[in-house]
Parts: sequence; C-alpha cells; structure tokens
Amino acid sequence: MSSTPQSDALHVVCPHCQAVNRVPAVRLADGGTCGKCNARLFTGAPVELDTTSFDKHIGRDDLPVLVDFWAPWCGPCRMMAPAFAAAARQLEPRIRLAKLNTEEHQTIAARFGIRSIPTLALFQGGREVARQAGAMDTANIVRWVQSQL
Ligand SMILES: [Zn+2]
Repeated sequence: MSSTPQSDALHVVCPHCQAVNRVPAVRLADGGTCGKCNARLFTGAPVELDTTSFDKHIGRDDLPVLVDFWAPWCGPCRMMAPAFAAAARQLEPRIRLAKLNTEEHQTIAARFGIRSIPTLALFQGGREVARQAGAMDTANIVRWVQSQL
C-alpha cells in the first residue's frame, strides 16, 4: 500500500445508497462522504448487505470486503456480532466490513456454499481470497484479516 501513488483513486461503494464513489487514496483516512447521498462512507460499523448490495460491494469496491455470513437463530453468530463491530472500527477505512443474513438471503449463501455459520469470507477484486468458519474475538478477526492481505 505504501507504494500507491498519491493520485490514485479508489472506488468505494456507499453503504447507504450503493453509489460508487471515487476517493483519492490519500483521503481515504478521512473517510469522506458519498457524492450522491452525502452520508459518510465509513461509519465504523458493518454494512448490512442484501442480494443487490452484496454484488455491488463485492464487485465494485476496490477495498477488500470482509463478510460475516450469519443468521439470527445462530447463537455463536450473535455472540460474535459485537466483536465483528469492534473489528470494523479498527479495520475501516482500509477494509469494508459487512454482514449477510443467510436466512434472508439464501441465494447468496448457496452461491458461496456457506455450510456453517458464522463464516467470515474475505473478498478482493470481486473474488473470494480467504474463508474462516467459526466464531472469533476481535483480536483474532483483525489478525486473521491482516494475515490474508
Ligand atoms: Zn450514498
């Protein structure tokens, strides 16, 4: 990342309206606001994805996207939720953290063959680069993501 020219711009998908914003790499640390809806591009909280926004974030975001595949009936998923939210505060804006409810959006879960939850999957450049099943605490989530990039 340190070799990135200052003029480089990254595509960042707005978590609120799914507009694709171009953010200069040097301004990424400031977060910035969406050019379409004016909301903050980073809120320090995971983005709740649905079938449409999932494809938008995975396909268009230049940032790595870490997705928590979860379901409301899953106890370990609910236990991990605060740790995942805390990880978002540490990893944004270098990495986008998102959640996908596998109960509501089963086609996405089926497409990726999610067999157990919680499962964390890391996407970069539109493809999955790493996957880890099972609940983790904040430190382990952060460490695992950083070891994959
Ligand atoms: Zn927006």
